[in-house]
Amino acid sequence: MDARLEAIRDTVLARNPGEAEFHQAVTEVFESLGPVHDRHPEFLHGAVLERLCEPERQIIFRVPWTDDAGRVQINRGFRVEFNSALGPYKGGLRFHPSVYLGIVKFLGFEQIFKNALTGMPIGGGKGGSDFDPRGRSDAEVMRFCQSFMTELYRHIGEYTDVPAGDIGVGGREIGFLFGQYKRITNRYESGVLTGKGVSWGGSLVRPEATGFGTVIFTDEMLKARGKSFDGQRVVVSGSGNVAINAIAKAHALGATVVACSDSSGYIVDEAGIDVPLLREIKEVERGRLKDYFLRRPGAHYVENGSIWDVDATVALPCATQNELDGAAASRLVGSGLVAVGEGANMPCTRDAVAIFQQAGVLFGPGKAANAGGVATSALEMQQNASRDSWSFEHTERRLTEIMVGIHDLCATTAEEYGDPGNYVLGANIGGFVKVADAMLAQGLI
Ligand code: GLU
Repeated sequence: MDARLEAIRDTVLARNPGEAEFHQAVTEVFESLGPVHDRHPEFLHGAVLERLCEPERQIIFRVPWTDDAGRVQINRGFRVEFNSALGPYKGGLRFHPSVYLGIVKFLGFEQIFKNALTGMPIGGGKGGSDFDPRGRSDAEVMRFCQSFMTELYRHIGEYTDVPAGDIGVGGREIGFLFGQYKRITNRYESGVLTGKGVSWGGSLVRPEATGFGTVIFTDEMLKARGKSFDGQRVVVSGSGNVAINAIAKAHALGATVVACSDSSGYIVDEAGIDVPLLREIKEVERGRLKDYFLRRPGAHYVENGSIWDVDATVALPCATQNELDGAAASRLVGSGLVAVGEGANMPCTRDAVAIFQQAGVLFGPGKAANAGGVATSALEMQQNASRDSWSFEHTERRLTEIMVGIHDLCATTAEEYGDPGNYVLGANIGGFVKVADAMLAQGLI
C-alpha cells in the first residue's frame, strides 16, 4: 500500500478499535487508491480519505418489544449515515444476530462507492439490528419493526436518508416499517423507504434486482473475454432473495446452477436447481433448504460442509461476508473456475481475492457486481418522486443499462490506471473519484 495512504489507514484503524470488518473494507479500498492520489494531490490536501472514513453521523438506539409470551426483549438498533456527497444517505437495514457497529460501518463504507458507481444521486448509509427474525412469528416481527421505526423515523426522509432491506429485511419488514412511519408522521411519504410492495409505491424488478444485476455484471465480464453465461456450470451460495434471483437469471442466460446453500448445509442438484420449488420453500413457507432435497428426486443434501467444495466454472457468492476464504478459492481455481461475481457484500476474503486475481479468474467485487439492488431502489425513488410506476420491461431495461454502465466504468478505469481486467481497482477508483470530486466541490464539511 502507498505509504501516505498507509499512515491514514493506520489512524483510521486505531480510531475504530475492534471493528474487524470495517478495517478489512477500508484496507481493501485504500490498497487501490495510491495511483489516484498521485494524479490528484488535491484529494490529499482536502483530507478526503480522512473525512470519508469518519461517518457523518452514527445513531445507536434501544429497541424494546414484547415477544408472544409477553416477555420484554431488548435489541440494539443502528443507522450509520456515512456520506451524503452525492445524495441522501441510501442503504439497507440488516436484521441478524451478528450485527454490531463494525458490520454496519463496513457495509455503509462499501455502500458509498457502490452507490457512486450506479451513477444515481444517492449517498451511502446502512443500518440494522442484532434482532434475529428467524423463528419469530409475524406478530413478533411486526412489534419489533414498529419499535425500531419509533426511533428511526426522526432520522430519515426522502431528502435525508432512505433505508431499504438487506439480510433479514424483506418485503414483510419494509411493510411494517413503512406502516409505522406513516402512522407516526401522518404523511404518506413513499420515498422514505425502498423495497415497498408494488401496490403501495414499490417498483417492479426491485425484488429481483440484486440477483439479476449480479448475473448481468458477471456476464459482461465474460463477454469482455469472448465468453458468456451460456453453458456455464454455476454454484451460488445462499438461498435468500439475492441467491434465488441470481439462479433464475443464470438459468435464463443458459447456465446450469448446480448448488445453493443455507446456514445448515448445501444442496447439489446436477439437473439444475428447480427455482419454483426453491421459491416455494424459502419465500412462501420460510422453510429450510433441507426440505428441497426431500421433495426433489436426484438432488442431495450435505449437512454443514462448504458449498465451495462443489466444482464450478462460475461462482456467485450470495450469502454473507467472508464466506469464501483462501483455501476455498484455491480449490475452485484448481477445478476450472473462470469467473466470480459477488452477490453478497465482501463474501470473499482478501486472500481469496488475491488467489483469483493471480490465477487470472475474472473477479467482480460486490460494490460493482451487486449494485443492481440499490440502483433499482434509486429507480423506485425516481418513480415515487414523479408519482409514476413503470412496467417490468422498462425497469429491467434501466437496470441492465446501469449494470452495463458500471461494468464499462470499472473496465475503462482499470485500463486507464494500467491494470486492464482488474475490476477491484476499477470499482474502487471509479467510485472514489466521483465521491471525492463532490466532497471537494462542497467545501470542508
Ligand atoms: N442492501 C442492499 C445493498 O447492499 C440494497 C440497499 C438499498 O436498496 O438501499 O446494496
